[in-house]
Amino acid sequence: METKHIIIDRKNVNEEELREAASIIREGKLVAFPTETVYGLGGDALDASAAKRIYEAKGRPSDNPLIVHIADVAALSFLAVDIPDAAYQLAKEFWPGPLTMILKKSDVVPKSTTGGLDTVAIRFPSDEIAQAIIRLSGCYIAAPSANASGRPSTTCAEHVMEDLNGRIEMVVDGGPVRIGLESTILDLTEKIPVILRPGYITKQQLENCIGKVRVDKGIMKTKKEEGAAVVAKAPGMKYRHYAPKGQLTIYEGESSSVISCINQKIAEKMKEGALVGIIATEETKDSYIGGMIRSIGSRYDEEAIAAHLFQILREFDSLHAEYIYSESFTDNRLGHAIMNRLMKAAGYNIEKV
Ligand code: AMP
Ligand code: MG
Repeated sequence: METKHIIIDRKNVNEEELREAASIIREGKLVAFPTETVYGLGGDALDASAAKRIYEAKGRPSDNPLIVHIADVAALSFLAVDIPDAAYQLAKEFWPGPLTMILKKSDVVPKSTTGGLDTVAIRFPSDEIAQAIIRLSGCYIAAPSANASGRPSTTCAEHVMEDLNGRIEMVVDGGPVRIGLESTILDLTEKIPVILRPGYITKQQLENCIGKVRVDKGIMKTKKEEGAAVVAKAPGMKYRHYAPKGQLTIYEGESSSVISCINQKIAEKMKEGALVGIIATEETKDSYIGGMIRSIGSRYDEEAIAAHLFQILREFDSLHAEYIYSESFTDNRLGHAIMNRLMKAAGYNIEKV
C-alpha cells in the first residue's frame, strides 16, 4: 500500500484535512499522528481487527498491550470499571497531558487491544492534532509509539516513514513533537499506585496530587538480568526497546574520567576501522577526539536531552555506527525517564568510571 503523508500547519489547523485521517481510522485502518510525547500509530481501540493490524504493522508481540487515547475525560467510565477517586484527581490535574493510567477494563474493550489483560491503559493527549483526530473519528484510538517494534520511538514524521512506509494508510505530519519521551504510566489497580514507566510527569508531581506512589522495582536496574525481571505488570517492559543497531555503552562518573575513557574507546575502535558515535553534551562536545560526535543538548536542560535522545539514536543507525558511547545523566526529575530509555537502549550496558 502507499502511505499518504499529509502535512498540517499547526498555526492554522484545518480540520478538513484531518477528516480523511479520522475516516481511515473509522474504517478500521491505521494512521500515524503526532502527540506531545512521541508519534502514535492509531487504530480503532474497540475494533479487534484494527488492533491486530497495529501489531502487524509494528511487528509488535501481541502480548504487549496498547494505550487507548481519548479526547474527553468522560470516556474513562465507558472504557474502565472500578475507577478510584485518585484517577479523577489525576485526570483533573494532568489531562490532557503525558500521563497514562492503568485501570480495570470494561467489557467494551477487546482483549486484543489490551494484550489479553483485564486492565486497560488510557491517556488523554494534549496535542491538538491528536485530539482533533480522536474527536473527528468518533473512536477511542489505540496508539502505541509509531516505530517498528524494538527501534527507538519516533519524534517526527520522517522517522515514522522510515519504519512504517508502505505498512499503514497515512502519516499526519505535525512537525517534531514537544516532549520526545513516552508518557508516564501509572498503575491504579494497586492499593498504592505504581509507576510502570517514568515520563514527563514525575513521581513527585503524582504524589503532590494523590499521596503515596511507588516506582516499579524493575524500572531502574543497572544489570540486565535485574532489568529483565520486572515484567509481570507491564508486559512491554520485557522486550528490547529503543535499541540502536550499534552497540551502545553508557559511561557514568566524573565528567573528566568519562571523557578520557570514551576518548580511549574511540581511539581503540577507530584503529580497528569501526564507525563510532558519541552522545555528548553542549558542555563536553569539544572534548572528544574522533568519531561522530553529537550534542544531545546542555546537561542542565533536561527537556532538550529528552527531545533529542531518540533522534540521535536513529541518526547513528542511519550513519551505520557500530559502537556508540554516551555520557550518563542525572537520575532525578525528567532525568529519571531519560536514563530509563537510555539504559534500555544500551541493554543496561553501563560502565562506572
Ligand atoms: P507504547 O504504546 O509503545 O508507548 O507502549 C505502551 C506501554 O504501555 C507498553 O510498555 C505496555 O506494556 C504498557 N501498557 C499498556 N497497557 C497496559 C496495561 N493494561 N497494563 C500494563 N501496562 C500496559
Ligand atoms: Mg513503544
